[in-house]
Amino acid sequence: MRRSPGLRIGIILAVVMPELPTTLTRQHLDRLRETFRGEVITPDDLGYDDARRVWNSMFDRRPAVLVRPTGVGDVATAIRFGRERGLEIAVRCGGHSAAGHSTSDGGLVIDLSRLRGVTVDPERRMARANGGALMGELDLAAQAHGLVCPIGTVGHTGIGGLTLGGGMGRLQRHFGLTIDNLRAVELVTADGRRVRASETDEPDLFWGIRGAGANFGVVTAFEFELRAFGPLLHRGLRIYPAAKVHEVWAMVRDFAAVAPDEIALILGIGRAEPAADYPESVAGGPIVLVGYNHSGDASAVERDTAPLRAGPEPISGWDRSQPYLEVQTANDLAMGPGHRFYIKGGYVNDLRPAALDALVAHATRAPGDSSFSVTVQGGAIARVPDGATAFTGRDARFEISADGGWDDPALDETYRGWIRRAMAIAEADAVTGRYVNEIAESGPAESLAIYGDAKLARLTALKRAWDPDNVFRLNHNITP
Ligand SMILES: Cc1cc2nc3c(=O)[nH]c(=O)nc-3n(C[C@H](O)[C@H](O)[C@H](O)COP(=O)(O)OP(=O)(O)OC[C@H]3O[C@@H](n4cnc5c(N)ncnc54)[C@H](O)[C@@H]3O)c2cc1C
Repeated sequence: MRRSPGLRIGIILAVVMPELPTTLTRQHLDRLRETFRGEVITPDDLGYDDARRVWNSMFDRRPAVLVRPTGVGDVATAIRFGRERGLEIAVRCGGHSAAGHSTSDGGLVIDLSRLRGVTVDPERRMARANGGALMGELDLAAQAHGLVCPIGTVGHTGIGGLTLGGGMGRLQRHFGLTIDNLRAVELVTADGRRVRASETDEPDLFWGIRGAGANFGVVTAFEFELRAFGPLLHRGLRIYPAAKVHEVWAMVRDFAAVAPDEIALILGIGRAEPAADYPESVAGGPIVLVGYNHSGDASAVERDTAPLRAGPEPISGWDRSQPYLEVQTANDLAMGPGHRFYIKGGYVNDLRPAALDALVAHATRAPGDSSFSVTVQGGAIARVPDGATAFTGRDARFEISADGGWDDPALDETYRGWIRRAMAIAEADAVTGRYVNEIAESGPAESLAIYGDAKLARLTALKRAWDPDNVFRLNHNITP
């Protein structure tokens, strides 16, 4: 709700003071404003309600103060301020965290939205993204030179959270995870130090940054190697009746084992909703979808996707070539902020026939657009040894997840329950690891499930070295 300036004094007396934690007074905030170059926003400021909003409306939290640094010095000032005042510190890039990690009730939010911007050096094929940059900025800057970094699929996702967790998308089997193209980061650590981490500078920290990166500091810059690519991406989608789930799965599984790196492949099980968008024979009922992206030469697409045409007959489908930038922003509006969202992910090497049957039966009860999906891994993702980064799960053949979005808080349990049950069906097939960016719950059990015993032990030692007081704990936390 926007407030009129005339109410300002009343608001300060009636709202702000009771909301400030006992460790934080107006004098502290005044002193912060004297040294901080960027914005300092508290509940009495007109922009507070806009500033506190994150992508997932389930996390309707009220920080005591939000700051928007304009440079590295401001980031260090903010960390020091938060520590001195004993405030819980949240770091925000795109604000898309599924677990609500980039906001806090009563804490300090370091909002990096004033640290956007990406520059590209086409000669060296390198990009430098500031710590608050969004994915769409990197796509646009790189494609201007016929280059690309494999990142995610929605333009307003933050490069920060996406990269520090791993980074999956349409080009990863071809070019590797986002972290496999990350060459260095600059960060401000819990004690205010400015550190560069790469394969040669602080290599152990760089190992942890790539998969558990939200735990070690505020990253103020990312350096990515870019690949020659574009401008077109070749794509297709097929819709199958759910009764064919076994044949479709066999086709996808066998294709996955031999598919060239250029192919990205995803299978979805859900409900044909909204019914008007689907052929009458399946409208409203369970369906199986198979989508592909081909990031190679147009002349190779027909040959490379032949296994999809040799499988069961789809009800409908399409194939087309589209500018990569158009594809990368196509869902930006549909996936816009302000809705409720829940996701749970994992990895499998196969799915049992009984699990497929149970998933189809479960799909008949799917609320709204909730669905279960299987993304093919392998290719460049699997050529990096699992131990090379903190990211866990690259050896699995498939990444799985269930998710859904809705608006009515009264439906929270309906959606979460459906998503949890979908993942419980696949649990017997699950192998070690979870993708950190696809886990909406957090706690010690989730961190163990994400990283597994061995990596969690190595990460714990790193955390003790770089953040022994757990200043950065709003993340899938590594407890020091
Ligand atoms: C619409 C949508 C589409 C998505 N698509 C994909 C996809 O295609 N591929 C994929 O892999 N994932 C995808 N995700 C998941 C996404 O990668 C995670 O939600 C990720 O955490 C979002 O990053 P963010 O910067 O927007 O989030 P934020 O909420 O800002 O941050 C997430 C976490 O990272 C930390 N963090 C962020 N920036 C920094 C920084 N500079 N320094 C230190 N810590 C930082 C935060 O503290 C927090 O713990 C998607 C999510 C959404 C909501």
